[in-house]
Amino acid sequence: MEYDIIIIGAGCAGLTAAIYARRAGKRVLVIEGESIGGQISRSPRVENYPGIKQISGIEFSDSLYEQAESLGSELEFTTVTAIRDEGRLKRVITEDGDFSCRALIIASGVKHSTLGIEREEELSGISYCAICDGAFYKNAEVAVVGGGSSALQSAELLAATCRSVTLIHRRAEFRGELQIVERLKRLDNVSLCLDSVIASLNGEEKLSSVSIKNIKTEAVSELKVDGLFVAVGQRPNNSAFADTVELDESGYIIASEDCRASCQGIFAAGDCRTKAVRQLTTAAADGAVAALAACSYCDKQN
Ligand code: NAP
Repeated sequence: MEYDIIIIGAGCAGLTAAIYARRAGKRVLVIEGESIGGQISRSPRVENYPGIKQISGIEFSDSLYEQAESLGSELEFTTVTAIRDEGRLKRVITEDGDFSCRALIIASGVKHSTLGIEREEELSGISYCAICDGAFYKNAEVAVVGGGSSALQSAELLAATCRSVTLIHRRAEFRGELQIVERLKRLDNVSLCLDSVIASLNGEEKLSSVSIKNIKTEAVSELKVDGLFVAVGQRPNNSAFADTVELDESGYIIASEDCRASCQGIFAAGDCRTKAVRQLTTAAADGAVAALAACSYCDKQN
């Protein structure tokens, strides 16, 4: 099956690209390996998208998908294992067969980072998504680790149903929005544990406590927890593309504001590419830029 444009990833960048490409009359396939909406679908509340005062991440993602689908974008749920540049056509190799297109947009997003400490993979009770797993911790004592928007939002979400939430952050300043920090400070069941890192994860099979080290005083204390939510940033997942497009040392696809990757006819949009600001708005902007560049690339081939 030959498409004008294939888009890898159904997050904000990918679905925005699909909307623009369909409106330009192109035959479009979106390939997604996990869930519609990507990272934003796991965000409890979006409050910084222009024109929308407040919306849940899942509602935003669903609405974006409905818009792309109603315009005639096709969707395949499968995992891309490799891409090939075959000159006029680009081949996308997936676990369920190959697809071809004239222009390819990679909008594969990022995956959550791990703490990288002993027993993180083996113990139960450790989650990377408060919106997915928070309901299992009703009335429980939980900790959140991280200081970005994801950690702050997770702490706020969990505080609504958990008995206590301890937010552990390795510095005294937060990377995430100050407005949420202020709201957290006003909540009786939230404690901030700053300048601190998790030294060890304790428990038999299930996490029962974390040892916390204050990096200024070096004092170590133990905090009893029923669950730990890790929100320490993200890493790109671009290994399937590494043979075809250039990646930087951190694994992001090298592309500038015009979204052109190192291979002609391949574009990178959203969090998966090298960029300074990874936000919903910049992902949407990239989707539009990449789609219009891909449309123009297809038109020049005709
Ligand atoms: P982030 O902004 O990169 O923050 C990661 C946090 O984890 C930082 O505070 C960092 O500490 C800390 N950290 C990193 N490695 C650690 C480790 N090994 N141990 C302990 N702490 C560690 O990541 P994010 O919160 O996932 O957000 C990613 C992007 O998505 C950001 O651009 C964010 O604004 C955006 N976002 C937007 C929304 C929205 O609603 N619009 C929601 C969520 C996320 P340092 O600060 O010391 O580096």
